[in-house]
Amino acid sequence: MFGVIEGTGVEIIRPEFTARTLGHAHVERLWTGGRWCEGPAWFAAGRYLVWSDIPNNRMMRFDDTDGSVSVFRQPSQNSNGNSIDRQGRLVTCEHLARRVTRTGHDGSVTVIADSFEGRLFNSPNDVVVRSDGSIWFTDPPYGILMDYEGRRADSEIGACHVYRWDPDTHQVSAVATDYVKPNGLAFSPDETTLYIADTGRSHDPDGPAHIRRHTVSDDGRTLSGGELFADCSNGLFDGFRVDCDGYLWCSAGDGVHCLSPDGNLVGKIHIPETVANVCFGGPKLNRLFITATTSLYAVFLNTNGLNQVR
Ligand code: MG
Repeated sequence: MFGVIEGTGVEIIRPEFTARTLGHAHVERLWTGGRWCEGPAWFAAGRYLVWSDIPNNRMMRFDDTDGSVSVFRQPSQNSNGNSIDRQGRLVTCEHLARRVTRTGHDGSVTVIADSFEGRLFNSPNDVVVRSDGSIWFTDPPYGILMDYEGRRADSEIGACHVYRWDPDTHQVSAVATDYVKPNGLAFSPDETTLYIADTGRSHDPDGPAHIRRHTVSDDGRTLSGGELFADCSNGLFDGFRVDCDGYLWCSAGDGVHCLSPDGNLVGKIHIPETVANVCFGGPKLNRLFITATTSLYAVFLNTNGLNQVR
C-alpha cells in the first residue's frame, strides 16, 4: 500500500532543505476517493487527523493508530479549513453555512461568527487560532461562486477580508481589507508575524498568487505591513503551515513548496495532484499530512510542526 508513488519525491532547491527532509523517507498515499480535499487538522490526544472533502459535504478522519479512514462528519456544511484551538477543540470554516464554528469536547457545535457588521460572510475558507485564543480567518467567495462547494449566492459584504474574532468580546474585526481572495494563513512561531495567501489568480490571470507578510501589533489585535513575501511559481498558494523553525510548507500546483523565513523557495515535495493544504501531525509532529485534490498523502520530515496546544 505504501510503495513509492509515481510523481512524488523530494526536490532540493537550496542546500538548507536537505536538513529539513529525510533522505529515504517517501511520500505515502494514505487514502483516495475525495473530490477536493482540504483543511487537515491534527488531534494530538486522539492521534487522528480530520480533513474536509468539500464537494462531498463531509469531513474525513484518518486514524494514525491503524491507518483506517472513516467519515468524521456528514453533512459538514461543505466545510473547508480546520484548526485545533489551544484547548484541543476543532475550529471549522463552513462554506454552506457561511460561518466559523467550534466543536466542543462534548461534540456540540457552537457558532463562533457568521457575519461582519450585520452582513453574512462570503464563505470562510481557512482559520488559525493564536495562543491568546483569538481566531483569525479568511473569507474569499469560493463557496458562493458555485453550488459545487457550497451554494451560489451574492456577497453581502461585497469584499473579501481577513477577520479576527476576539475571545473576550466575541466581536469580529476586519484586520486585512486589501486582498482579492485571501486564503491560507499562519503565524510565525513567535506569533509576531501573520502570513496570508491570496489566490486571486484563480479567477483572474492577472490576479495575485502569492503570500504576504504582516506584523502583528503588540496587543495582538491588528496588523501592519503586508508586503509581498513570496510569489507562487506553480499554481497557487492555498493553505500552508509554519514549522518550528519558521519555514513555511505551502500548497502549490505541483506539490508542497517549502519557503525559508526570508521567503526563498528552498525545496519541494512533489505530489501528483494539486495540493490544497497541509498539516503537521503524528505524535512527534514530524509528519506532514497533505490534502491534494482526491487524496490524502503524508511524508515524514526532519522538522516539527508547532504544538498548537501549549
Ligand atoms: Mg483554502
